[in-house]
Order: sequence, then structure tokens, then C-alpha cells
Amino acid sequence: MKTISNKNVIYKFEEKMEAVDTISSGDTVVFETNDCWTQQVTSEDQVITEIDYDILNPATGPIYVEGAEPGDILKIYIESIDVKQRGSALCVPNEGVLGDQVKESRVKIIDILDGYALYNNVKIPISPMIGVIGVAPAKDDGQWTTDTPWKHGGNMDTKDIKQGNTLYLPVNQKGALLALGDCHAVMGDGELCFTGLEVPAKVTLKVDVIKNKSINWPMIEDEKYTMIIASGKDLDEAIYTGTDEAVKFLMKGLEFDWEDAYVLASLIVDIKISQVVDPTMTIRAAIPKEILTTEKLIGSI
Ligand code: CA
Ligand code: CA
Repeated sequence: MKTISNKNVIYKFEEKMEAVDTISSGDTVVFETNDCWTQQVTSEDQVITEIDYDILNPATGPIYVEGAEPGDILKIYIESIDVKQRGSALCVPNEGVLGDQVKESRVKIIDILDGYALYNNVKIPISPMIGVIGVAPAKDDGQWTTDTPWKHGGNMDTKDIKQGNTLYLPVNQKGALLALGDCHAVMGDGELCFTGLEVPAKVTLKVDVIKNKSINWPMIEDEKYTMIIASGKDLDEAIYTGTDEAVKFLMKGLEFDWEDAYVLASLIVDIKISQVVDPTMTIRAAIPKEILTTEKLIGSI
């Protein structure tokens, strides 16, 4: 099994990127990931404005997946996310939902022990997730710094991108060029103050190519749902896009006309907020597998 070192990082997803390694469809691969600060935040006394902002949000990779071509889907099963025993979270003035109320920066260094994050006198059960994961974008989509989520994936900050779930990404370039980083030991929907529990990690993924099936936006599958992960300049735009995709999937998967699919969406699709603090906002539109299985959904596109 190959391991991709966290010394190989990118800060931008773009059409042409140089792969640091190659795997085959069906391979399992380990990515060592840095935290979003490249481990620069180490003390609660730290002056957060003095860190190097040029090395934020590193994504390990990219790797070339043999056989992946534009118009395919990259299917990524998340086998495990092993997080380090200590991470950080913080707030700074003018960042996050209540940034206007933050009087001073606060850095929290948080120990993780036996599956719990120890925060003051509160024990938080951890649920490790991948904040940034993506592939080379399509040429028409331009370049995306690793802090911004879009059709190629990127900084989706979606808590369902976690162990046991399967992520589907559109393949836009030969080899897909997969990179990831910014793991969180735990994060709530919204990512309200603009960080999760930021932590370096070791992520094990099984990567497959689904040939000749294309999607416009990433999807994450858990036990109960297939969720379209859509981003937009604001929540309204993200919700519009996610709903539009969900209705199209219901239409094709169940062979309904558009209006029947739209009314059905209103009865069964849940809109969940992923994050509201990145340069674009992210939601997921969740289609119950009980109504339309992921297999049937993908088979019909
Ligand atoms: Ca993030
Ligand atoms: Ca983060």
C-alpha cells in the first residue's frame, strides 16, 4: 500500500498539476495530512496574526489514478481517519458567523484521548472528517485555492466526509489528480467560528474509477442517504444548485417528469448546511436511499 507524505502539498486545485505518485483503480492508499495551519499553531499564548498565511490549507498530493478520464467518477471509500492526539481550534475578530463580536483572538489547544476531545471540562466524542478533498478542476472552471469549495471538491468542510462513507468526485482531467488535507477531529454543521478541531491525520482511502458516468458536483454516501454537496456564493445559491441536482437525479433514477420529481423532492430531500464560513458556502441535498439507491442513482446518469 502506498503512503503519500505530507511533505507533498498543493495550495491550489488547477487544471494542470504534477502528480507525486500513481495508483490503480481499486487500490487502497494512505495520505498523511497536515493540519490547516501546517502545524504552526502550537500554544494558547500564540499571536495568531504572526503565523505564515502562505502555508494555510495544504492538501497532500496530488496523485494520479490510472484509468480515470474526464467524464468518469472517482469513487472514494473512506476506510479510516486516524487523527493525532492533539489539535487546535480558535476564533479571531471578523471571522466566522459572529466575527463582529470577537474582542480578542482565542487559541484552544485540545487534547484527544480515547475517542474524546477534552475541551475545558467538556468531553466531546470525536467524529473525524476530511475538510479539503478534491481533484483537478475542468478547464472552464478555472483555478481554486484550497480554501474554497466548488465542483471539483476542495474545502467542502462537510462532516459526513468521514470514516465508513463514500465520496464521489467528478473526474475532469486525466488521472483525476486527487489531493486532500485539513482534517477535523470534530466539527458541527456550519463550522460557526471558522475552524473545526484542526488536526494532522493519516487517512486511508480505497479509490475506484466508475467509467462513463459523470456528475456536476461531489456526492457523499452514508448508510441512509446520497448527498449532493453543492457550493455557492451564498446559501441561497448553494441550496438552488443542490436542489436542481437532486431533482434531476430523482427524475432520471425514478423515470419521473420534472414536476413530479420536484414535488417528490419537497417530500423527501433534506437540505443540510455543511459550512457558512469559507469563501463559498456549502450545503448538502440528501436523497434517502430508501427511495432511490445510490447504485440506481449513478446507474441512471
Ligand atoms: Ca476547512
Ligand atoms: Ca479546517
